[in-house]
Amino acid sequence: MSTVAAYAAPSASEPLVKTTITRRDVGPHDVAFDIHYAGICHSDIHTVRDEWGRAKYPVVPGHEIAGVVTEVGSEVTGFTVGDRVGVGCFVDSCRECAQCRAGEEQYCVKGMVGTYNAIGRDGEPTQGGYSGAIVVDESYVLHIPDSLPLDAAAPLLCAGITLYSPLRHWNAGPGTRVAVIGLGGLGHMGVKLAHAMGAHVTVLSQSLKKMEDGLRLGADEYYATSDPETFTTLRSSFDLILNTVSANLNLGRYLGLLALDGTMVELGMPEKPMSVPAGALISGRRRLAGSLIGGIAETQEMLDFCAEHAVRPEIEVIAPDYINEAYERVVASDVRYRFVIDTKSLRS
Ligand code: NAP
Ligand code: ZN
Ligand code: ZN
Repeated sequence: MSTVAAYAAPSASEPLVKTTITRRDVGPHDVAFDIHYAGICHSDIHTVRDEWGRAKYPVVPGHEIAGVVTEVGSEVTGFTVGDRVGVGCFVDSCRECAQCRAGEEQYCVKGMVGTYNAIGRDGEPTQGGYSGAIVVDESYVLHIPDSLPLDAAAPLLCAGITLYSPLRHWNAGPGTRVAVIGLGGLGHMGVKLAHAMGAHVTVLSQSLKKMEDGLRLGADEYYATSDPETFTTLRSSFDLILNTVSANLNLGRYLGLLALDGTMVELGMPEKPMSVPAGALISGRRRLAGSLIGGIAETQEMLDFCAEHAVRPEIEVIAPDYINEAYERVVASDVRYRFVIDTKSLRS
């Protein structure tokens, strides 16, 4: 075992504090790497504040992790020391169920093992990327293409894949009309990726405050959802709506924006359930769906796509002692568009 510095939440109501955690010895199939950057996902905040009711403290969040390999196990074939690597939201799964065998480990029937706030195969709690180093089985580690800087690569491991996967699954491309609700960490990646895939992209944000950014990021149109006119103007006009909002929305109003046979995909995971008026689905043969991150193979495909199409998140790099302030700003929708922690001071 080795010890490493980290930032942990001691409880739902206390700020994150600097602490020390242990990492397991490098097993035959393991890759150990120094963490250089870790993105702050709104899911980290939902977890730390126990908004999903399943937090186990102390918890070290962070599932957008990028770094450089320092050691590999004797049986590792895919990585060598010095490789630039990433880890996303999970670090293990059963590897036997149909979903695991199909490369959709995020839907493992026995449940994927989260990068943090889960129990690993060794029976120990998993701890995430707000730390200096990590040890992960090579099957759950990604290669970061050379052209992607590590700080910009980090948010791709959750925000990037969470938008890439549904855009691919629902065939976004030339001729499709895609709307993204919420221009935050996930949403801004949705705009960039959908634009890179050739779709017609509309942002649905609470206000027009970020309109200039949205258009620069690749949106063709931008509307404020605080303006009731938006819901009249855009009625029945989208093939695909990606809802990235972290809070409850009036789903019926947004479903009305779908064209015939259109699909709205829930990506945000607010604390409380939302109600769905049946009429909003029935009237346009509309669908309401959900999507969870993406599998390992698709995550690698997304990283390669971002390298090829020069798609990068817009980031604000911060020191670890700014994490608590950054959380407040994320909750206030005051992030443009992802905070990324430079973990240099946590590395030994
Ligand atoms: P974020 O950066 O905070 O972005 C959320 C955006 O939602 C905000 O920027 C804001 O956009 C909008 N918003 C926030 N509060 C709102 C409200 N009360 N009403 C309307 N709009 C509101 O968060 P994120 O990191 O992108 O994560 C978003 C959600 O996705 C979280 O619930 C997270 O847990 C979830 N998530 C899901 C997956 C998955 O696999 N499905 C993966 C990662 C994260 P505007 O200012 O533009 O309105
Ligand atoms: Zn996330
Ligand atoms: Zn499985």
